Amino acid sequence: MKKIIILITFLLSLNVFSQSDAEILKNIYNKSLSYGKSYEWLDHLSNQIGGRLSGSLNAEKAVEYTKEELEKLGLDKVWLQPVMVPKWVRGLPEFAFIETVPGKTTPINICALGGSVSTPFGGLKANIIEVNGIDDLKNFTKEQVEGKIVFFNRPMDETFINTFEAYGDCGKQRYYGALEAGKLGASGILVRSLNLRLDDYPHTGAMTYKDTPVDERIPAAAISTSHADLLSSMLKMDNNIKVYFKQNCKQLKDVQSYNVIGEITGSEFPNEIMVVGGHLDSWDLGDGSHDDGAGVVQSMEVLRLIKESGIKPKRSIRVVLFMNEENGLRGGRKYAEESKRKGENHVFALESDAGGFTPRGFSFDCSDANFNQVLSWKSLFDPYLIHYFKQGHSGADIGPLKRDSNVLCGLVPDSQRYFDHHHAATDTFDAVNKRELELGAATMTALVYLFDKYGTNPLPENSQLKN
Ligand SMILES: [Zn+2]
Repeated sequence: MKKIIILITFLLSLNVFSQSDAEILKNIYNKSLSYGKSYEWLDHLSNQIGGRLSGSLNAEKAVEYTKEELEKLGLDKVWLQPVMVPKWVRGLPEFAFIETVPGKTTPINICALGGSVSTPFGGLKANIIEVNGIDDLKNFTKEQVEGKIVFFNRPMDETFINTFEAYGDCGKQRYYGALEAGKLGASGILVRSLNLRLDDYPHTGAMTYKDTPVDERIPAAAISTSHADLLSSMLKMDNNIKVYFKQNCKQLKDVQSYNVIGEITGSEFPNEIMVVGGHLDSWDLGDGSHDDGAGVVQSMEVLRLIKESGIKPKRSIRVVLFMNEENGLRGGRKYAEESKRKGENHVFALESDAGGFTPRGFSFDCSDANFNQVLSWKSLFDPYLIHYFKQGHSGADIGPLKRDSNVLCGLVPDSQRYFDHHHAATDTFDAVNKRELELGAATMTALVYLFDKYGTNPLPENSQLKN
């Protein structure tokens, strides 16, 4: 009996080698859609653990859970990489209103931006000055701004098809708003949420004070898009109205956390490392299902699908679940620093951090030769409606691994609904579709399979395909 099993296993392994790339990709997609684990893992991360702000108890629970789940996959190695992370806490929920005349108030939905200082204990009340984004602030004098709350109300541009471009276009008001308005003597800032639709949810996100002394830092909050419109229209009728807001957030000392790493060691070139990853931390208002629970479970699924499909990778394939992408990027930096110290050779890295929506393709940060090799694989992805292959940005966590010779890339899902959820209380498990998530995991696995098989040093003869 044992001999028969060995023989069958041997024949199956031969079959893998004789299968065409198209057949192997089909098998990967079938397995992800029929027997996938990604959705079940995401359910646990989102519903049993919840939001995973760096340094929080939930973040540590997520470290433990994903490490245990990776151990169950029978990988060659699973380990934790220690990294010190910032710990910012929101404290009690924020509270805010518009005051038209003393005693006449309208509540508005706000949330502190990540890293912001709190308001004074009794809250902050001041007149408002509305500006259209960070560049528009230059048109105002210190006399006009001093003592006021600067209201950055530049909306995301609806005409961008890739909504990340709209985010990049007006995200500076969130990141630099408090720093720049503080220089003009503002008492605080309110930023229109980076959200393309009108709704009642404020969206948090990172901001900076750079080296501004602590006692000169001003509180910064995001306001929901519908209340941003309300405030703007009320200001047009009477620019003497005031806003009151109170927030209770705090920056504590750095704490120890971890990147979670698992590896299938390569059979021919174990020293050539290929990374797939997402970030384990999230903001705290929702449960971080799209940002970036989806990327975490899809990356774990890549290694599971490779094993389940009987693929024996030539190169070492690592899943890295990075800690602290949102408010520090400490995990990504630490991973690159450690790999440099050990002299590791990262030939490829793929990040999923753009939501768990229907995959469209990938964005590549690599040489033209490597990119042309990718284009030669494009038809293999046709059956799965994966068509977007462009050179461009890869991912924040893997960015520090960039060298001239390697390939970095990011999964590109459809981005139309991403900013409905991003960094808000609406980033929850029910907003993720099971099949869309699984298609993303399969698409990532397919690309990893091809790069492992053909390598990242394309020569004319090894870019020929068996279709
Ligand atoms: Zn993210």
